[in-house]
Order: sequence, then C-alpha cells, then structure tokens
Amino acid sequence: MAIRGETGEWEVVIGLEVHAQIVSRAKLFSGAATAFGAEPNTQVSFVDAAFPGMLPVINEVCVSQAVRTGLGLEAEINLRSVFDRKNYFYADLPAGYQISQYLQPIVGKGTLTLDMPDGTIKTVGITRLHLEQDAGKSLHDQDPRLSYVDLNRSGIALMEIVSEPDMRTAEEAGLYLKKLRSIMRYLGTCDGNMDEGSMRADVNVSVRKPGAPLGTRCEIKNVNSMRYVQQAIEYESRRQVEIIEGGGTIAQETRLFDSRQSTTRPMRSKEHAHDYRYFPDPDLLPLVLDPEWVEELRRALPELPDTKKARFMREYSLTPYDAGVLVADRETAAYYEAVARGRDGKLVANWVMGELFGRLNKAGKSVSDSPVSAAAVGELVDLVADGTISGRTAKDVFDEMFATGKGARAIVKAKGLTQITDTGAIEAAIDGVIAANAEKFEQVRAGKDALLGWFVGQVMKATGGKANPASVNEMLRKKAKG
Ligand code: ADP
Ligand code: MG
Repeated sequence: MAIRGETGEWEVVIGLEVHAQIVSRAKLFSGAATAFGAEPNTQVSFVDAAFPGMLPVINEVCVSQAVRTGLGLEAEINLRSVFDRKNYFYADLPAGYQISQYLQPIVGKGTLTLDMPDGTIKTVGITRLHLEQDAGKSLHDQDPRLSYVDLNRSGIALMEIVSEPDMRTAEEAGLYLKKLRSIMRYLGTCDGNMDEGSMRADVNVSVRKPGAPLGTRCEIKNVNSMRYVQQAIEYESRRQVEIIEGGGTIAQETRLFDSRQSTTRPMRSKEHAHDYRYFPDPDLLPLVLDPEWVEELRRALPELPDTKKARFMREYSLTPYDAGVLVADRETAAYYEAVARGRDGKLVANWVMGELFGRLNKAGKSVSDSPVSAAAVGELVDLVADGTISGRTAKDVFDEMFATGKGARAIVKAKGLTQITDTGAIEAAIDGVIAANAEKFEQVRAGKDALLGWFVGQVMKATGGKANPASVNEMLRKKAKG
C-alpha cells in the first residue's frame, strides 16, 4: 500500500501488538472462573480484587498455553522468565499494578507466514510473546452520573504477542491477524473472538520514503475488529503523510480508533517503560521450565495450518490458494479431508469450496453446522465420477441434499435422475433436435463451431438434463462430419 503523496511515493510500516486471552478455566494467578458474559463481579477472587496480603499462585495451564503458542510460532522458548510489576493507577486495576513480563518474557523470537492472495508467502517476524494479567473493566454506560467497575476480567491470563515492523499494507495486517488467530484456534490457546474482546490489537503505524530509515510511529490502542484494524491503518498512514508533506513532524503518541468516523484521534503522548516503574514482582519466583516438559508439549502439538497446507498441496494436488483456504480453520480442513480421502482431491475441492461454501454462506452457516455431511458430499462426488449423474444434475441434487438432509443416492433414485448412458436414446434425442433445427445444423456442418454448444444445450433440455454433455457433444460432432 504505497501512498502517493505530493512528493511521491510513501511506504507504510506496520507492527502489531496482539492481546490474546488464554483459553483456561481459571485465571493466571487465581482460581476464579473466566467464562465470558457472566454477571459483573461474580468471578472475582480476593487475589483479583487485590485484597491486602493475598498472594498470586501461578496457573500451570496458562503457562503451557503460552509455551504451546510460542511453539506454534516456531519461536524460542525461554526456560527462565521473570514476572514484573507494571505500575499504574486506574479504577479497574485495584492492585495499582499489572503483573506482566518485561525484560525476560517466556517466548522470544519467532515467525509467522502470510499466505498472500497470489499464492506467495511473506514472513513476518515475531519479536516476543509474554504473559500478563488482564485488567478489570470500567462501565460508563450504566448510570448517567456514576461509573461502575466489573472485576470479572481482572487477572485473566493474556498473551501479548508482538510483531516486528514487517508489514507494509492494511491487507497484510489483516492476513497476519487471521493467521495468528488460525494458529491459536488450532492450538486451542485463544478462541480469537474479537467481538468478545478475547483478541485485540494495538496497531503501530509509521510512514517513510522507500529505503529511508523507519519513521516515527503512532500506536492505535485496542482495536477490536479486523476491519477496524485495516481502516485505522488506511486513515493513520494518510494522516501522517499529509502532516509530513505539510512541513510538520509526527509526534510519537498513543491514539484511539473512532469506529463511527473511521478515523484516529490522540489519546495521550507515548508512555515509556520508565513511566511504569517496572520491577520484578517480589511475590513471584522466576518461572523456570523443565526442557523435557517443553519437549513433551512440542511433541503433542497438532498439525498446524502451514504444515497441513503443504501436505494438502502434496497429497491432493491443490493450488497454494485452495489449500490455504481449506486449512484456514481446523473444522473445514477435517471436513475437506474426510471427503477427499480416496477421491480426486481437486474435484472434491471444487465441490467443497464452490458448491458447499456457497450454500453455507447463503444460509449463514459454518462447516460445523452444515446440513450435508462429508460422507454425503463424497457419495455425490462418486455419482458424478462414475457417470451415474451429470455434473449439472449433481448441483440440483446438492440443493435438495442441503434443504432436506437426504442422501444423494436416495434423491437420484426417487427422482429418476440417473444419467442416460444408452447411446440409442441419446441419438434419438439428437436426431429430433437436428430435424427441428435443420437450417441451423447446416451452419454447424459448414464449420460454425460456436453453434454446437447451442445444440448440446437443446439435447440436454430434451433429455431432462440426464444425458452426458460430453458424449452429446461428441456425437453431435460426428453427425456434423458424417
Ligand atoms: P512499546 O512496547 O513501547 O509499544 P516496542 O518497541 O515493543 O514498543 O514496539 C511495539 C510495536 O511497534 C512492535 O510491534 C513494533 O513492530 C512496532 N514498531 C516499532 N517501530 C515501528 C515503526 N517505526 N513503525 C511501525 N511500527 C513500529
Ligand atoms: Mg506498545
């Protein structure tokens, strides 16, 4: 997304800090529950409410989720990490500090690959992943004069995943978030529901002339949808170019995204690490991991999207694009594979991505609540492959399967849709159509090939769509020559 300004091209530089809520029944340092949507202040322990003298106890599940995510990002796992206090005052932070990791995070450098629409791959560096607590929530819309505080979220485990400034377009930022979410969903470490706030992004944007050093960045806080992230980047990069070209300079600051106007506006000047007076939390020992335990977690990882994509391309001869679409979520990949096993992978991909996805989208459904099972799609594909029904008929059969949940074979039988393989019957239909359109057929004889398709269509109509179009075509050609 180069921007063309008055002074020529500008390059946009983007780095993302994603806060991902860890899937775990209990919080990072307390046993309180984490379910979304509970009554305010019903999932709060004394630790989360920062009662005097309460001590944090680390939750092993949250640690293993962070390590597994790090492994999924092919990142270094730091066997020794340290929890620090990040001090600031806010109504929804009763302790006056958030327990986080600063200089020694649990996960170091890794990588994430973007599957670009043209089939190529772009690699984005992961700087680090650290564990921290979420804060509570201030509710400003419950009363005209009062603000309320809900501490249910206080102490829930978050992974902060920081990228290198490696992205160059809003589209790449969107692909990054999708891929990160896909990996975490495969792993079951974060549900990735941005509309419930379990995944949110701080978007860092700067602009520069191609080849110049990095420009000063602005950070747009807590953007909670893919579309907003992209809109924020579009707006913010243009704003910066206009300022610089107008002779101004960019002030490093923290900004907010205004979703109503698709703009960003200043929130505060950039905070620095020293503003938070970070220091190691005296209530917690350094976190030391057993390398054998990390290896066990590594061995137990599921097959992740990149590996699955490569395998689908290899085993089912899929294009990078098709394989990428099919592995984007685990359910879709499993569905596709259940149909494709032992069948023509490309053919099955067409049925699943074209016919099934089209119908699911229209009905507002996902693969997991598809009214047509993988086995049923397999049956339909077989009926086409062995010539029992034509591809055209199969689409109608699919409609009915989708609407009624009935099997392909049952529908074909009940409706008598079996393709006519009796060449005598097809020939009779062809002769009938030729007799009724003798002049037109003369033109076909004279070499007007374009008309042949029209004749095929007429014969298909005459046979109620049950003839095989390829053989009709072939027989018509013979007649035209003979
Ligand atoms: P902080 O913790 O103060 O926000 P970091 O150095 O950790 O600062 O960087 C945060 C994010 O900003 C990272 O995702 C990084 O890639 C991104 N970033 C750093 N410099 C730039 C820049 N010049 N333009 C765009 N993004 C940047
Ligand atoms: Mg930041």
